[in-house]
Parts: sequence; C-alpha cells; structure tokens
Amino acid sequence: MKTTEIRILVYEFESIDELPVNDQKLLIEARRITSLAYAPYSGFHVGAAVQLGNGQLLTGNNQENSAYPSGLCAERVALFYANANYPDSEVESIAISAAKNGVLVNEPVKPCGSCRQALAEAEVRFGKPIRIILDGQDTIMVLDSVESLLPLSFSKDSL
Ligand SMILES: [Zn+2]
Repeated sequence: MKTTEIRILVYEFESIDELPVNDQKLLIEARRITSLAYAPYSGFHVGAAVQLGNGQLLTGNNQENSAYPSGLCAERVALFYANANYPDSEVESIAISAAKNGVLVNEPVKPCGSCRQALAEAEVRFGKPIRIILDGQDTIMVLDSVESLLPLSFSKDSL
C-alpha cells in the first residue's frame, strides 16, 4: 500500500478590509444579492458573485421551491447565468456569502458537493484556476482553486 497526502492552502482573513480590493468588490456584491434570495422554506439566504475574465461581474442567489429538489443553489445560479450569457469568458473568481434570518453566518459558508462539481467543470473548461472567497462573520476563507474544494474530482478526462 502507498499513502498519498493531498494538501490544500486556505487563506484566512478576519475581515473584508484585509482582502485585496477586487475580492472586496466581489464579496460586497455577494452580500448584496444574498438579501434578495428566494428562500422561504429554509430561511437560509445565499448569494454568489462571479468575476469573469471579460470584466463582467454577475450575481445569483439561492432559489428554493416547494418541491425541494427543484430549487437551485446560489453558486450554480450565478455560474450557469455566466456560462449562458458569456460562454467564451473564463470564470476568474467567485465569492459566496450566506445569512440566516438576515444575519451573516459566523463560519465561512462552503459550497455543496453539486456546486463544487459545477465549479470544477468551469475550471477545467477554461483551464484556469478559479479563486474562491467564502464569507463568514468571524473568518473569510480564500482558496486558489476549485481543486482545493474538490480534490480527486471527476472530469472529462475520466470519461
Ligand atoms: Zn450548492
């Protein structure tokens, strides 16, 4: 047997003011769109802001449904909107924020498995790492790549 260790780098910041200016701008948009989420069932509002290589900044938020599986997470709403409107532009970064009952969560919000897979596709599609900013009141986490969120991922090379 052989053991392989997989390491990921996580940058942690105590406040939005410590982030580079472009990350701050993206995170402010993610926070703004969080409040507009349609989440009457969970009360958990999530917002995502995507920075594209062509300069566009797009946002999305979670959209719930009384038939629960018919809803969609904020990350995929924003990402699919970006891909639908600007299919030739790479995703440079995504910021994700979340609020419970209108209050920003304490710990950084992390994408679900399905969103990680969709983000991995966007990274592989354009061959460029996507910077990920995960918002929280106590800590803001920044990752250099989706590989840090989803190591050993399934991709087109697996087909
Ligand atoms: Zn998700």
